[in-house]
Amino acid sequence: MIDLRSDTVTRPSKEMLEAMFSAQVGDDVFGDDPTVNALEEKAAGMLGKEAALFCPSGTMTNQVAINIHTRPGDEVICHKYAHIYYYEGGAIMRNSGVSVCLLEGDRGLIKAADIESHINPDDIHRPVTSLVEVENSMNKGGGSCYEYQSLVEIARVCNNHQLKCHLDGARLFNVLVETGESPKEYAKLFDSVSICLSKGLGAPIGSLLLGSKAFVKRARRVRKAFGGAMRQAGYLAAAGIYALDHNIQRLKQDNDRARCLGKLLSSLPYIENVLPVETNIVIFNLTNKITEKDFLGKLKDHDIHALPLGPQSVRFVTHLDFTDEMLANVEKALKKIGK
Ligand SMILES: *Cc1c(COP(=O)(O)O)cnc(C)c1O
Repeated sequence: MIDLRSDTVTRPSKEMLEAMFSAQVGDDVFGDDPTVNALEEKAAGMLGKEAALFCPSGTMTNQVAINIHTRPGDEVICHKYAHIYYYEGGAIMRNSGVSVCLLEGDRGLIKAADIESHINPDDIHRPVTSLVEVENSMNKGGGSCYEYQSLVEIARVCNNHQLKCHLDGARLFNVLVETGESPKEYAKLFDSVSICLSKGLGAPIGSLLLGSKAFVKRARRVRKAFGGAMRQAGYLAAAGIYALDHNIQRLKQDNDRARCLGKLLSSLPYIENVLPVETNIVIFNLTNKITEKDFLGKLKDHDIHALPLGPQSVRFVTHLDFTDEMLANVEKALKKIGK
């Protein structure tokens, strides 16, 4: 089976499993798990933040951050396709009682000027704008990336208006292996950062929330209240440490393979357009010659699996378990479908 549905489908390698089996563990709710503590310290060091918190999912790290940065009745500014809003089950409202101000923006990217013009005035009629959220890379934008300078400008607007700023960096390392920039340069622009271990990094479970010591202390309490405090989680944290040690640089291969797919797709007669491929996500639209349902059915006949994103729209995501051999097979199948 060739699985292009998501980079979450990876299975832990033998080496990662060995690291998990041999982990030292303790009860992390008591702060006693040395492997969880080691993962949190390692990640904080890599991103240049004071502290980190290991959570079961990226939804939880994002939503814990939102809960801390806002009060009920406040408003968060983000793109209309932001994962925190579009793909997290209404959690912003459900868990934090916060409304959203949804911005437009090319391929999911929002701009400092647009953010600034949507900050509510100090007027009792209006919700209090307290948080700005950006996603990098942007999932629904086809793995699109922010120019570093535009993030600097967003951080400046937040600073000028005393707004908190959260980065959903589920796939931040897919961005960094392309640009050669350091995680610290990005993390310093934000009050909090979420990164996923269970995407391209190949761990079975887990995300990290990073910020100041005071922020992470509060996050620990909110994680508990959200039901995310885990006991001998060191077995999972060991996979995270392994992922950070071994699986970052190789994300470049995922990005390169995605670019190959994008290039081929652009040349096929039944493809209307392909969003620019910047990282490991390829989003494309089909011409009216074939529906996304028929297209995905034909791929399935070759045991290739992908997800529809909407009418005539399909997403491929490359990852650790998607090899060059699989890439060649997908390319063969795509060419056949056109015939
Ligand atoms: C996957 C993802 C998350 C977190 O998802 P979980 O499945 O809850 O771990 C957050 N943001 C983005 C952009 C994602 O792609």
